[in-house]
Amino acid sequence: MTICLYHRDTATEVNDFTLEHIIPDPLGGRLAPDWLKLRNVCKQCNNNIGHFVDASFTHSWFVAQLLHKISHRINSNTPHASIPLNPLGLSGHRPSYMENDETCEAWLGPHGELVFWIRPTDERFVTYMGGNPRTTRTTQSRAYFFPNTQSENDIEKMLNSFRDALPKKLVKKVIFGQWGNVAPEAYGFSEPDALDRSRLEFFNSRISVNMTDQITIPIGQEFDWRFLAKLAIGIGYTTYGDHYLSSPYYQSLKNGLWHWHGVESPRIHGMSFFTPSDIANDSSNLFTQSTGIRNAVTILIKPQGTSLAVLLNIDKERFWVVQASDFVGLDPQIAFSKYGEGLAVILCKEKSLMCEVGLPDLLAHFLGLKRQHIISQIEA
Ligand SMILES: [Zn+2]
Repeated sequence: MTICLYHRDTATEVNDFTLEHIIPDPLGGRLAPDWLKLRNVCKQCNNNIGHFVDASFTHSWFVAQLLHKISHRINSNTPHASIPLNPLGLSGHRPSYMENDETCEAWLGPHGELVFWIRPTDERFVTYMGGNPRTTRTTQSRAYFFPNTQSENDIEKMLNSFRDALPKKLVKKVIFGQWGNVAPEAYGFSEPDALDRSRLEFFNSRISVNMTDQITIPIGQEFDWRFLAKLAIGIGYTTYGDHYLSSPYYQSLKNGLWHWHGVESPRIHGMSFFTPSDIANDSSNLFTQSTGIRNAVTILIKPQGTSLAVLLNIDKERFWVVQASDFVGLDPQIAFSKYGEGLAVILCKEKSLMCEVGLPDLLAHFLGLKRQHIISQIEA
């Protein structure tokens, strides 16, 4: 096979295939079993889809918040352990010398500390927490850290969390105030210059009034559409191999994968964040809600009636559903023999734990009839 699974033009032959994770890394994709990794995606699609499709989902405020919450819960009781900052949204504050192509993003630290990050903005990436991931790696930006002076909490944890914040970004970090004997440079902070000093004063005078004043959450109504199409294509292909490529529904999904804002919506069955479920025979909301695992990303693949459904659940709190196949032109028995009544892949990136479990065993676990050891470890 020399045709890229994602390529918009199927006639294009490509040879530079790369490893593609059906589940992106922020959701635990590296832990996923090999059958959820593909080798027939070209380098160009892999890069573009990682940047515009996977990241649009994982960097959206909704998903970033959920992932942050899991990480915080797992690491918060470990003394001195660094915790990812919580993305709050965009701040309306505009301190001195902000360029027109810059924005101010606000983050919250483990004990209520505040971070204001002045970074380049890009209209294509407005809904991404952290902006355009490529630009912020190569363009200098500045972040201002405000420790919570009311807090008696673990100072080392705060500094470690600040140090590790905004990884892989080209960012000058400046902290407000003095912290005992702490040498700021040991935690990745730089000496403030005149511009930094004026901005520190600016923010300090405002956060003392209201910590999270003027925060807006950038919302992209379609942030998950293309990602769900990608997830469905990957699962469809891993189920049916090359036969999948001749099914009409694969073409609909591919239109969805390359969907562009403002163009007519693709005909994909499922349920995204802002649109209700329309999937055929979706048994019940109870079913979709009850199959998630706390602290984990759960992908449940379930043949049901006339469709192969994929359910994505994060932290037992939010879920998405997409149809990977309507079985037109494909043998439903293949899906039933692979997944039985349903197969769940449970990924916990924070604990580096993964398990695959059939739906009956998962339900038995939920009911307390037969506990699954790894799931218990993940949930703990
Ligand atoms: Zn391609």
